Amino acid sequence: MSSVWKKLAPSLLVLLCGFISAYAQEAATEKPAVTLILVGSGPLVVDEVSEASDGFWYKRGNVTTFIDRNRVVRVEYPKPPASETSSEPIEGNGRWKLADAAKVEEFFLGKFKRPLPVSAFGQSDLHTRWGWDHRNGLDVGLHPDSAEGRALIEFLRTESIPFLAFRGPVPGVATGPHIHIGNRSPRISGR
Ligand SMILES: [Zn+2]
Repeated sequence: MSSVWKKLAPSLLVLLCGFISAYAQEAATEKPAVTLILVGSGPLVVDEVSEASDGFWYKRGNVTTFIDRNRVVRVEYPKPPASETSSEPIEGNGRWKLADAAKVEEFFLGKFKRPLPVSAFGQSDLHTRWGWDHRNGLDVGLHPDSAEGRALIEFLRTESIPFLAFRGPVPGVATGPHIHIGNRSPRISGR
């Protein structure tokens, strides 16, 4: 599988995360709007983007348009205000357990009228292979700077639910942008 192909099919990748102290972030450009980087053409600056399973809905003015996932190289989000760009993941008070996931799923469904895009519920084969105990972790395939990602993070903060936000891949830890709900994953013992 080529790396180009991987970029074009992020929905097929299992998102992972674990114990790290910072998350990767590309040098953000100072742009007020969201930019879609398209295959074989220039960047497309739009007002808002929401991700679907097979592509992206983007809004320009009053017009909302769908674009197929394989036409999009990546989505670049504007850099959030300095107060929100701490590179240290936010951690709550440790009262999270996986059974609390229903509360988060209900919030998301109620607000966005679609199910929470869960990429890993508890332990996954890839977490096991990478040596993370993810039994109480819930991975959500949303970019932390997207409209939906920001709303989710705000909800988690309000509810004092611990989470880690990843803006990009971290070798051995995260395959791409996502929000890990729960405390940091411990290493699987005996490794
Ligand atoms: Zn996770």
